[in-house]
Amino acid sequence: MNSIKMDYDLIIVGGGMVGSALACALGETDLRIALLEGKPLEHICPDPKPDLRVSAINRASQRIFAAVGAWDSMAAWRVSPFRDMQVWDAMGSGHIHFDSAAIGEPLLGWIIENRVIQYALLERVQQLPAVDLFCPVALDTAEPLDGKGWRVRLNDGCEYATRLLVGADGAQSKVRQLAGIDARGWSYDQKAVVSNVRTAESHQETAWQRFLPAGPLAFLPLHDGGCSIVWSTLPEQADALLALDDSAFAQALTEAFDRRLGAITDVGPREAFPLRLQHAHDYVKPGLVLIGDAAHVVHPLAGQGVNLGLLDAATLAEVILNALAAGQEIGAFKTLRRYERWRKGDNLLMLGVMDGFKRLFSNSLPPVRLLRTLGLHLTDAASPLKNLIARRAMGLEGDLPRLARAMP
Ligand SMILES: Cc1cc2nc3c(=O)[nH]c(=O)nc-3n(C[C@H](O)[C@H](O)[C@H](O)COP(=O)(O)OP(=O)(O)OC[C@H]3O[C@@H](n4cnc5c(N)ncnc54)[C@H](O)[C@@H]3O)c2cc1C
Repeated sequence: MNSIKMDYDLIIVGGGMVGSALACALGETDLRIALLEGKPLEHICPDPKPDLRVSAINRASQRIFAAVGAWDSMAAWRVSPFRDMQVWDAMGSGHIHFDSAAIGEPLLGWIIENRVIQYALLERVQQLPAVDLFCPVALDTAEPLDGKGWRVRLNDGCEYATRLLVGADGAQSKVRQLAGIDARGWSYDQKAVVSNVRTAESHQETAWQRFLPAGPLAFLPLHDGGCSIVWSTLPEQADALLALDDSAFAQALTEAFDRRLGAITDVGPREAFPLRLQHAHDYVKPGLVLIGDAAHVVHPLAGQGVNLGLLDAATLAEVILNALAAGQEIGAFKTLRRYERWRKGDNLLMLGVMDGFKRLFSNSLPPVRLLRTLGLHLTDAASPLKNLIARRAMGLEGDLPRLARAMP
């Protein structure tokens, strides 16, 4: 077989939160890495006002950001800690309260704008000599090179060969499609309406979530005292909510949230995102690997999507570094299978749990409502079980990669 000249050891398609975290995690090695991002940097740079899209970031993800050298810059932009979480059922008396102090932790996590996360990571990428950032540029095609890596063609006409092609290009992943990897899933027949609002009462550094019959409504605390809301509901209701004027939307939101933080006093622009569950049949092929939403898409009700993706990135980085140390090929199927075996079970478990919650809470049959109320009361009262759930969601338990573990 002819030996093919490799331009890069890794080409990462997608400089979103997950792809750029992987580039940072490997950026201090001798690997030659290209990171391709479709959006221009100036569209990613945070505005003075909080952006619409935010993520609840758990402790494991924060450790990853710190370990790859991007946390200080995120914190300098703006991050909002939350110490409590209140979850309750609109169709019964079921209620559960997670309190960081009760599990001996200073906080449960942070609410951070996606653009702050992505921009801080991309700023870090630009300090790393191992990584070439191509931005804005999009992947057009990719083809395997006799089982020894992949050749990619970009929309600017350039072509590069790489030992390992990483698909970090989100739910509609072109890498996944070009590799012929099947993704299964279904639409939730829900859209999430997001907006930044102000409330009469303080958010108390608490993440709030009320389960309504058509889907959960979350109020997430922002750094400027406002809240980011995520209102998952039927598509036709979401469209109607988008069409309301500001004062009618504020009124509808106040009622839907049961006035828990008093009246909504101001609302910002609104957008809606269709919700679905999706899982790639395979995460790996020889010389190719999927991470983040390219591999799995989960309902946002427990704010786990990007946290899972960041664990993918940290795990893949560890598997690659271990392979290099052992003199093994980073794109070999055997190497990449270690990553798949490590992450697939965890991701599937979270997909299943979120799917189960979504179904349990959208069911208004009286026996199911009773069971739900009982389950919430019992869990709230049983501290060890409640603490285990909280510690798992915070990324403090489980088979974590090195970058996500606490420093000794
Ligand atoms: C309403 C809502 C609320 C959510 N809240 C939370 C939360 O609180 N906590 C949480 O953990 N998760 C949350 N999620 C999920 C989270 O947003 C996703 O899991 C996360 O964005 C996935 O990151 P990613 O980097 O894998 O993909 P993406 O964010 O989709 O990034 C993919 C990147 O690839 C680029 N790209 C795509 N195609 C190409 C191409 N061909 N060439 C070059 N570049 C390309 C895109 O421009 C983009 O920057 C939420 C999701 C929704 C819809």
